[in-house]
Amino acid sequence: MAQPSAGSKYFHMKPIYLDYAATTPVDKKVFDSMTPFIEQGENFGNPSSLHSFGQKATAAIDNARITLAKTITANHREIIFTSGATEANNLIVRGVLKSFFKNQKKCSVIPRMVISAIEHPSVIETVRALEKDGAIEAVYLPVNGAGIVDLSILDKSLNERTILVSVMWVNNETGAVQPIEDVAKIIELFKKENGSRFGSAYPLFHSDAVQAFNCFDLNVIKSGVDLMTLSSHKIYGPKGAGASYIKNGVESVIEPITTGGDQEYGLRPGTENVPAIVGFASAAGIAHNVYKAEFERLKKLSEKFFEKIKKEFPEVEINGSMDNRSPHIINLYFPGRENLGLALDIAGVAASAGSACAQRYEKPSHVLSAMAMDAARIKGSIRFSFGRLTTLKDIDDAVGRIIIALNNKNK
Ligand code: PMP
Repeated sequence: MAQPSAGSKYFHMKPIYLDYAATTPVDKKVFDSMTPFIEQGENFGNPSSLHSFGQKATAAIDNARITLAKTITANHREIIFTSGATEANNLIVRGVLKSFFKNQKKCSVIPRMVISAIEHPSVIETVRALEKDGAIEAVYLPVNGAGIVDLSILDKSLNERTILVSVMWVNNETGAVQPIEDVAKIIELFKKENGSRFGSAYPLFHSDAVQAFNCFDLNVIKSGVDLMTLSSHKIYGPKGAGASYIKNGVESVIEPITTGGDQEYGLRPGTENVPAIVGFASAAGIAHNVYKAEFERLKKLSEKFFEKIKKEFPEVEINGSMDNRSPHIINLYFPGRENLGLALDIAGVAASAGSACAQRYEKPSHVLSAMAMDAARIKGSIRFSFGRLTTLKDIDDAVGRIIIALNNKNK
């Protein structure tokens, strides 16, 4: 992003960070939990080593696994640590397919994957790549104008060849909350009434819950998911750690997608990133303790933000819905504008046009496109996302700066 020039009136302003959906700073308690596993001492060992150094590292990972599992009502055996959500999503999508081909050796039928059209690139691009290779048939579930997946189409998309359904919990661009429990019910009913020709495990239900952890209870039992993806750096943990939740029993229909050692129950080879895993679990524990309060606080903050923006720019519209939204994200359309991210950055407000992974390459948002928005609307839209450190004063100041940036006049 552009830096204000030395002569700019904004140069001395401390930027206001409204991009918590892209990443979060590491919580101080999380940071402190990690340091023993980075610095010199007796805790830096390789968990695969049998000596005391290795045992200490193994114990740290075991504890982290138990802590993280508790926050989602899972068993520790159901957690596979990865390098982040991108890898966790790949492990799930590719790992399910790999196991399918291994078990159905003589089968010439192409399996189907059903995913929402608004999945994060780490799911949608993986599915697209497999589809392009001719390995799967893919169905992309449409969403309505509010960015919510169309359940009537899900029902029709399931067939006896469907091996995986993937619907994210909260969309990272609009904050739209997807009807996860309803998706699970439709899949369950399909299993009862029709079933898969490949075995009772299918279709598996996966949800990428990366953006949901801070404001929701990710109870894997209540939600009915078989597979779930989490990321540490969205919940005030370090970057470079994530996890796949794999329901007990489902691991028999997932294969590792990389080869190497036996770490992570044989599903994810490679020396574990011990400090990051410890930090991730610590962050998860904190996030789970405060999610209800965060939901309420961020709801008020984001509503206030929208109210203030609307007062100055009555033409602004929300992309998505005000109510069915994770309160940490609000995506707004400023008619007639473009390059909003750049203009706001110069004015000292850090916000993103969309997924951090896509915006560097200026790809038009596939999420807003799926919501039937045209190119002009997509160009004039920007995502603001709020977090634990966002205050009412930040909201006031940010709106003031946005007004200056877009109107070129003082508040
Ligand atoms: N899924 C969603 C919904 C996300 O928002 C992100 C991060 N933008 C990812 C997956 C990828 O996470 P990571 O950075 O841990 O690979």
